Amino acid sequence: MIISMKLHATKEEVEHVTERIREFGYKVHSIQGEERVVIGAVGVGDVTACLESLEAMPCVEKAMRISAPYKFVSKEFHPGRTQIKINGVEIGGDRFVMMAGPCSVESEKQMMETAEAVARSGAQMLRGGAFKPRTSPYDFQGMEVEGLKLLRKAKEATGLGIVTEVMSDGDVDLVAEYADVLQIGARNMQNFALLKALGRCGRAILLKRGMSATVKELLMSAEYIVAHGNPNVILCERGIRTFETVTRNTCDIASIPALRELTHLPIVLDPSHATGKRSLVPPLARAGVAIGADGIIVEVHPCPEKAISDGAQSLTLAQFDTMMRELKPYIALWNESRVPALAAAV
Ligand code: PEP
Ligand code: MN
Repeated sequence: MIISMKLHATKEEVEHVTERIREFGYKVHSIQGEERVVIGAVGVGDVTACLESLEAMPCVEKAMRISAPYKFVSKEFHPGRTQIKINGVEIGGDRFVMMAGPCSVESEKQMMETAEAVARSGAQMLRGGAFKPRTSPYDFQGMEVEGLKLLRKAKEATGLGIVTEVMSDGDVDLVAEYADVLQIGARNMQNFALLKALGRCGRAILLKRGMSATVKELLMSAEYIVAHGNPNVILCERGIRTFETVTRNTCDIASIPALRELTHLPIVLDPSHATGKRSLVPPLARAGVAIGADGIIVEVHPCPEKAISDGAQSLTLAQFDTMMRELKPYIALWNESRVPALAAAV
């Protein structure tokens, strides 16, 4: 931390501040300028509480943190990339990962048809929500356990790994029995009880960025999961809320390379929720590959007009197949860029 004292602060005031910093467990180094004293504090302690306490002191001009507030998820902690093996598929490594499936699990027919089609088109994982976070309490809330059972059935038939959302800490063990990856939805990114429970679940986590969350807040939420014992976290950009109304959310595509500079965790893009519009999904998916995401999670439905949720942004099975074919040259370039990068990281 750096603490800048007010102009002409007295010696007693500087001593008082120094004493307070030491009480929080930090070592203090002060620099006496012409008009102002600047104090450097180093060590390990409750930075937030210390900064709040210092900012409440009238003789302090400004108190700020200089190191990142997250540790385990940072590049400094692990300079390479983290690879996570999920149901035989590695994410964060030298293979681009496609996750696809409906917004909600609706029926056995819908799940089996979708799973078989997306597997044929080249997806490695199947998505589908059995517990749905809906803005309205009157909307479909998901098939819950019955939905989880259908996901299991689809996995048995196709071998695809399962990505599905968990909404509360009390459901973590149940969902973890059926899922390979537990999805944390945008609305739950800062549900700290849930994040803590994920630390113990033994499954990989797909953590979606909250719709009004900064990149650093996303990393802090990932830090919760890792600090509580689970290092297998995948970050997901799914668009944020802005003044723009043409798209459902605004895709912060730059967050992907920005995250890449800050963290070793795998990063995926969700072009479906980022746009809300089927026609925009393939171009955004191409952007995701080109910008170096580790994978994509996309909504696909056998009959989007009958989808219970998110039909307007769901690709048909044929559109998904076309998108996969169109992505091939982009993925070939991605492969070329990734192999030397991995070799350099070792
Ligand atoms: C979903 O994946 O269907 C979903 C609800 O996503 P988000 O949490 O990003 O809105
Ligand atoms: Mn959805």
